Amino acid sequence: LVSRKKKPEDTIIDIKGEKVGDGNLHHIMGPCSVESYEQVSEVAKSVKQKGLKMLRGGAFKPRTSPYDFQGLGVEGLQILKRVADEQNLAVISEIVNPEHVEKALDYVDVIQVGARNMQNFELLKAVGETNKPVLLKRGMSATISEFVNAAEYINSRGNGDIILCERGIRTYEKATRNTLDISSVPILKQETHLPVMVDVTHSTGRRDILLPAAKAAIAIGADGVMAEVHPDPAVALSDSAQQMDIPTFENFMNELDEYAPRVAVQ
Ligand code: PEP
Ligand code: MN
Repeated sequence: LVSRKKKPEDTIIDIKGEKVGDGNLHHIMGPCSVESYEQVSEVAKSVKQKGLKMLRGGAFKPRTSPYDFQGLGVEGLQILKRVADEQNLAVISEIVNPEHVEKALDYVDVIQVGARNMQNFELLKAVGETNKPVLLKRGMSATISEFVNAAEYINSRGNGDIILCERGIRTYEKATRNTLDISSVPILKQETHLPVMVDVTHSTGRRDILLPAAKAAIAIGADGVMAEVHPDPAVALSDSAQQMDIPTFENFMNELDEYAPRVAVQ
């Protein structure tokens, strides 16, 4: 169903007026984890001020160590929704458990399926039975074919509003957290009709190369980028090394918009 052979025209997904996949750029920004109302609100104001519409934030955090911050859960979703309503933004948040999907529908505009859950088939089926857009991240060890099949699982249950998100794969290279497989973008665009985004934060794991990575993503045809922003990354409860602080984020957006305006010049 997701194959371009089945449907030649691009899928366009309406997220509170943002038409992702329409050929213009649509970026997703926000903190790694929801930590407090004040923290999310500060980031959201800056996201809004930059004219962006989609606010991300993790409430259920799939952490590598069980001793790391696991997220605020439903309380985190409530904070996101409150802030997003105040700023008229759309909420994107990860759900890790099929049983949480229905409850999440009250709070989120886009359900994120994280890299670690790309082949959680019960979760894929559960989100496929909703009518919420899904942002599906590539598993860190998943081939492009497995990634496309994960999207097919969602679509096979009826939900075709799927954004594919390249977020880097695991290789022997240690200079970056993961290896950004930039070539997956045009392959996914050719093989499927779905929008494709690139998460520059988790792929690189390096604040110093977020901007060139984002430019590369756009140059190669991505529909937008995702990156993480925190008011004070040094004290962030997750991904402290790679989130941008607000001035860095504002500069990042200025440079990115200059490189590639969000609305294509006619
Ligand atoms: C995230 O975006 O919050 C996240 C955990 O990313 P990933 O699933 O790509 O590791
Ligand atoms: Mn993160």
